[in-house]
Amino acid sequence: MIAKTRRTRIVATLGPATDAPGVLERTLRAGVDVIRLNLSHGKPEDHLRRAHDAYVTATALGREVGVLADLQGPKIRIETFANGPVQLEAGADFTLDCSADAAPGDATRVGVSYRGLPVDVKPADHLLLDDGLVELEVMSIADTQIHCKVTIGGKLSDRKGLNRRGGGLSLDALSDKDRADIKLAAQLKADFLAVSFVRSAADIEEARKLLHEAGGDAWLVAKIERAEAIDRLEEIIDASDAVMVARGDLGVEIGDAELPGLQKKIIREALVRNRAVITATQMLQSMVESPIPTRAEVLDVANAVIDGTDAVMLSAESAAGKHPDVAVAAMSRICLGAERQFEPAEDISTHTHRLDRTDQAIAMAAMFLATQLPVRAIVALTESGTTAQWLSRYRSAVPIYALTPSAEARRRMVLLRDVKPMPFDIRATPTLGVRQVVREAVRQLFQRGDLAEGDRVLVTHGDHTGRGGGTNTLKLLSVGADGIAESLRDLG
Ligand code: PGA
Ligand code: MN
Repeated sequence: MIAKTRRTRIVATLGPATDAPGVLERTLRAGVDVIRLNLSHGKPEDHLRRAHDAYVTATALGREVGVLADLQGPKIRIETFANGPVQLEAGADFTLDCSADAAPGDATRVGVSYRGLPVDVKPADHLLLDDGLVELEVMSIADTQIHCKVTIGGKLSDRKGLNRRGGGLSLDALSDKDRADIKLAAQLKADFLAVSFVRSAADIEEARKLLHEAGGDAWLVAKIERAEAIDRLEEIIDASDAVMVARGDLGVEIGDAELPGLQKKIIREALVRNRAVITATQMLQSMVESPIPTRAEVLDVANAVIDGTDAVMLSAESAAGKHPDVAVAAMSRICLGAERQFEPAEDISTHTHRLDRTDQAIAMAAMFLATQLPVRAIVALTESGTTAQWLSRYRSAVPIYALTPSAEARRRMVLLRDVKPMPFDIRATPTLGVRQVVREAVRQLFQRGDLAEGDRVLVTHGDHTGRGGGTNTLKLLSVGADGIAESLRDLG
């Protein structure tokens, strides 16, 4: 009996909590597939060190772990207070001072460095501070001064974020800091670059251009966290390699009641449009303090798996919490449980939005057979990992082994649900024909214990192994007692 392994991927944010001795190793060991570096916090040297430590630790564990660099983005923030945090009372007047020479704040006013805010807002707008913990209503605007009434009171401290209910505050998507951080992402060889507060496909295209100019080649992850992004969801998904359901800011901009429906919609659209999707924020929030999740959190993680997400993400739980490794272990356990409940859709024909590439057509044919026949595994001989990406867009019950000589491709594929990236290098024996290479791939999986005698496997490959983008062939093979596929036995 071949053991079940987890199919949903786990992204864990690194931070001060994982810097403590031994914690990173325990956390990776508990089941992290991708580490996230949150560029909103910390210095460049912190991120370079963490990326390096994660690489060294993962290599020592014999694991492939991807690196996601997450840009801060153009979040509008208040400035600082003269004497520390203030308490705002509901019903009180409060002014946002957007002038260049705003004085340090107090309980009646605070500066905002974004000069365009008085033009962007209008009376009756609701402004949310600190992810909605404090809420203001705009009463009037006089030049650089936005006069508000406090509608939800609370504590407010320096540099907290500011959103508008309904979205629409128009800062450029990439700040000067983001531009510098894109270079940092290239320098630390990030496998994924997440762009915050994306409004349109053009924002993603600009980030990709800057990344390429800096010598980077990461997958671009569009964080869906603005109300405007929902209106342009399709073009944003098409321009990206992956999307993130960024529930923190999204919930503030559109209201929490819309979140469950939007999470399902974003996941569905990402899959149909052949992109990966990460579900993020507050998944196990109570585990910042507690070693066990609440039942509601367990259900939340499981429901994201059942919605079909590729990956689930930990933020403060791993970066700043008391139990980073325990949180990862909980997430892993909940994913495994949910995967047992997950029922693949029966009709695969409605699944794909466009079928305009040969490798994609072969992948869909493989997934159709995987739903019709008892197959143990799908094996993709791939250079860039693209075939594995097509294969994994349809959620089946069959594992996909993606065999490639490229370490970069393997570290990107770690984000894809159902995919197991594996090193496979036949360059030492360049005289092998394609069918001999396929036979060798099956035999190696048999030797690892991933296949057994009598198993049927689907294999996708091209006419020439060692070239990207050439998948045009699908084979259905039976594994013999010695791990040799029967139909390829007499090849020599
Ligand atoms: P953040 O993004 O953690 O960078 O804010 C995720 C979210 O908003 O949910
Ligand atoms: Mn966010």
